[in-house]
Amino acid sequence: MTDQSPLLGGIELGGTKCVCLIGTGPNDIRAQTSIPTGTDPARTLGQIDEFLRNWQREREPVRALGIASFGPIDLSRQSPGYGFITTTVKPGWAHTDVLGRFARGRAGPVGFNTDVNGAALSEQRWGAAQGLDDFAYVTVGTGVGVGLIVSGRPVFGCTHTELGHLRVARARGDTWAGNCAFHGDCVEGLASGPAIAARAGMAASAVLADSPVWDLVAHALAQLLQAVVLATAPKRILIGGGVAEARPGLLVRVRQYLRESLNGYLELDEFGAGLDRYIVPPGLRSMAGPLGALALAADACAASAPAVHS
Ligand code: ZN
Repeated sequence: MTDQSPLLGGIELGGTKCVCLIGTGPNDIRAQTSIPTGTDPARTLGQIDEFLRNWQREREPVRALGIASFGPIDLSRQSPGYGFITTTVKPGWAHTDVLGRFARGRAGPVGFNTDVNGAALSEQRWGAAQGLDDFAYVTVGTGVGVGLIVSGRPVFGCTHTELGHLRVARARGDTWAGNCAFHGDCVEGLASGPAIAARAGMAASAVLADSPVWDLVAHALAQLLQAVVLATAPKRILIGGGVAEARPGLLVRVRQYLRESLNGYLELDEFGAGLDRYIVPPGLRSMAGPLGALALAADACAASAPAVHS
């Protein structure tokens, strides 16, 4: 397997940390490092570049590089800002040229997309969405994001989708203002790790399993899922990210709230007896994100290769 698969480099830029991988896939990771995202992009991207260069100098070059970044990012190839992180609230990172930093001077192809689209593509290639052309990957962590795959590709129009910032119906009696800097009580403002911490007055990881906060988080996520279900009818929904990974019970509540919210409108097995198989954790677990960068590299490699065989 490793003889035929090209060696790839992956960079996952996350809200808290950046994970770099060298390898060909989940069963062949040859090097991995984690670097705090911090507030100085030049320093962080420099450390990532140093890791990649050191490895390649001492071992062998990678055929392609993939960058899966927190957003919003500019993915319009004709835009002067193509490859940039744009309006993020992450201190220091707004209007940072990420793609150019790594593509300049490189001979091989570089894939670039959002972290959630990357994670979705890694699950499609290696994880719990294998064989599916229509599905969604939802991350609940530092932020809330959705990698929405329709007809085999991430949805992309004037820009990438940003479903984590959807405004949703609030749980009855819940009037908390939310903490999204742009929208207050959008889904990210209600259900991300920082939102949970702001509401509970303690880190999300410290909030007890029987706290009513989790019901409110699950309610907001279920509302998001209802919108996704009604908009593109995915065949499966994966829910990952740091908060979801640490709270397996959250998915149970999300399924309940989605079923209640749909209220029998869609008479499909997916929303009845099959709901446990419809809303599932990512097959690659916490590696879905980092491997997303490798999936983007693999796609970039395939796109640049002569069309002999894949
Ligand atoms: Zn928002």
